[in-house]
Order: sequence, then C-alpha cells, then structure tokens
Amino acid sequence: MTDLIDPFGRQVSYLRVSVTDRCNYRCVYCMAENMTFLPKSDLLSLEELDRVCSAFVERGVDKIRLTGGEPLVRRGIMGFIENLGRHLKSGALKELTLTTNGSQLSKYANNLADCGVKRINVSVDSLDPVKFHEATRWGHLDDVLEGLEAAKRAGLDVKINAVALKDFNDDEFDRLIAWCGDDGYDLTLIETMPMGDIGSDRLDQYLPLAEVRAQIEKHWTLDSTDYQTGGPAAYSVVRETGKRIGFITPLSHNFCESCNRVRLTCTGNLFMCLGQDDCADLRGPLRMSESNAALHDAIDRAIGQKPKGHDFVIDRRNAGPAVSRHMSVTGG
Ligand code: SAM
Ligand code: SF4
Repeated sequence: MTDLIDPFGRQVSYLRVSVTDRCNYRCVYCMAENMTFLPKSDLLSLEELDRVCSAFVERGVDKIRLTGGEPLVRRGIMGFIENLGRHLKSGALKELTLTTNGSQLSKYANNLADCGVKRINVSVDSLDPVKFHEATRWGHLDDVLEGLEAAKRAGLDVKINAVALKDFNDDEFDRLIAWCGDDGYDLTLIETMPMGDIGSDRLDQYLPLAEVRAQIEKHWTLDSTDYQTGGPAAYSVVRETGKRIGFITPLSHNFCESCNRVRLTCTGNLFMCLGQDDCADLRGPLRMSESNAALHDAIDRAIGQKPKGHDFVIDRRNAGPAVSRHMSVTGG
C-alpha cells in the first residue's frame, strides 16, 4: 500500500490517538471542572480503534501515541495496547507510546513494558503537592510519583511534560530541571494553547516560553542539539544534568514544515492539524463495510487536505478559544 504523502510533500508517519475524552483529573488549562463528556455510545469501540490504527500502519505510519483524556482510564485499554503490540513485533511499527497523567502507572507500568512500550510522557506541572492538586483539581502528586517509580522499575524511559503557567509554576522551573536531572527524565515545557472553553481567562495563564527560557538560562547552560521529532518542540541539552529540555511553542509556525502527524479522536474524526478545526470522519467509512477499502479512501482524501500550517492566536479582545475543541479531544 502507498505511503501517506500530503500536498506539501510531507510524509505522515505518526498517528496520535485520543482513546477517550474522559479523565480522572480536571487540569485548569485543559478542562472546566464541570466538563460534559461525549456519550459513550459515540465512541469507537477498541476493536474499531485497532482497525483504524492498523490501516494507518499499513500506510507507513511507524509511530503511534495514545493519549486522551487520560488513556489509562479507558476500560479494556491494556488489551488494546497488547493487540497493537503485534505491529511492534512484526517491525511495521517502530514505536508505541503514550502520554499519561501518571495516576494509573503504578498499576500498569509493568504491563506497558510487556506490550513493547519503551517510553512514555508523564505530565507533572508542579512538584509541590498543594499546587499539583490546585492545577489538576482532582489529582494527588503522590500517586504520580509512585507511578513514576513503577515506570522506572519496569524500565520505561520517561519524559516529563509541564505546562508553563503564569504566576503559578514560574518559580518552579529550576526545581523541575534539577529533579528531572536527578531522576533521569527529559523535560518538555509547554506553552498554554487556546483550545476549548475552560471557564476562565486564558490570558491569565499564558506565559511565553521565550521568557521562561531566558529565566532558566540564568542558572543552567542550554546546549543546542540537532535532536528533532518533527513536532512543535525545540530541544536543548541541559549541560549540568545531561538531560534534554524541550520548549513547545505551538503559537509559533516554525515546526509546520516538518509536520509528520495526524490526530484521531475517540469518535473517529481525523484532525490533520492541531491548530485547525477541519477534520475528516473515518467512523462512517469504517462502519460502511468489513473491508477497509472505504476507510483507506477516506484516509487518502483526508491527507490530501492536510493544511500547510495552523492559525493559533490567543484573541486579545475576548480571550476565547482559537480552536473550539478541548485538548482532551485530540490529546495534544
Ligand atoms: N491526560 C494525559 C496527560 O495529561 O498527560 C494525556 C492528555 S493531555 C491533553 C496531553 C498534554 O496536553 C498534557 O501534557 C497536558 O498538560 C497538555 N495540555 C492540555 N491542555 C492544554 C492546553 N490548553 N495548552 C497546552 N497544553 C495542554
Ligand atoms: Fe486530564 Fe491530561 Fe487534561 Fe489534565 S491535561 S485534565 S490529566 S487530559
């Protein structure tokens, strides 16, 4: 089967799958506390998600990231991951990974490693238990730290994601860098993205990473590296710890030229760009027949519409979302 090449010559080799929009946390920048989730009947079954993922693997996708919502709270998720592991064994898939809030890792880290998962991203915005609880509304830092220990014992590589939030964790970056250095984690700092109504003003949260970087460089030496993932993170190496630090600035356009990814929602919508509302329905073609012909046609049409770049901007007049869906729909 042919590879997926978009109109700008970029090969799509990376599929991110939001397996659920639900979550056991309510992070302040991600969701309103009283979020309304999709009716369960709208979700693709795990068998259907497997069919779509496998169709992408047939078309040359060699990296899949599971995300959400919280991927590890979807019922039956470990069986799904185990099944996808067959593409790792065959060599068609080079990497199967996930982004998680870490709360379920003490339960699942060993299983994940057994399925062929080698590394995971875990979100930790603060190392202060009170602040952590404030940021996640329903989360407890201890659960995540236990999960990280379990991940270490299982031999999983960990990258920590932290969203930079004005007047909240801007005094913690030194601590986060030192902690990641001590525990052997790479770190990625993320600028807040204007996605979905969160019931508060985003301008209050927005902290430009250029400022953060300048602040960090007062205490740490950031050496340049040619490490790239095709995504929105620009990486450096912290000389004092030897670990990587990435800065995700989604409001800049500097990564669109190398964009190699598309995003599937748990209802079967395929988003060709994180910063655009356009998407293609794969659920209809998937359910049309047991053969995958209609599905592959729909994937081809979708990739043919992948836009050149995104239009993110935090609207300074009304501070409303530039993209109406929440991050938990496409998983970041
Ligand atoms: N629940 C998992 C987690 O928190 O890692 C996976 C899904 S979460 C949507 C993926 C990443 O997106 C997390 O690192 C989270 O901090 C980040 N995120 C969520 N909403 C965001 C927003 N509006 N702007 C920037 N990053 C956001
Ligand atoms: Fe849940 Fe992740 Fe969103 Fe936090 S960022 S509410 S953990 S999906």
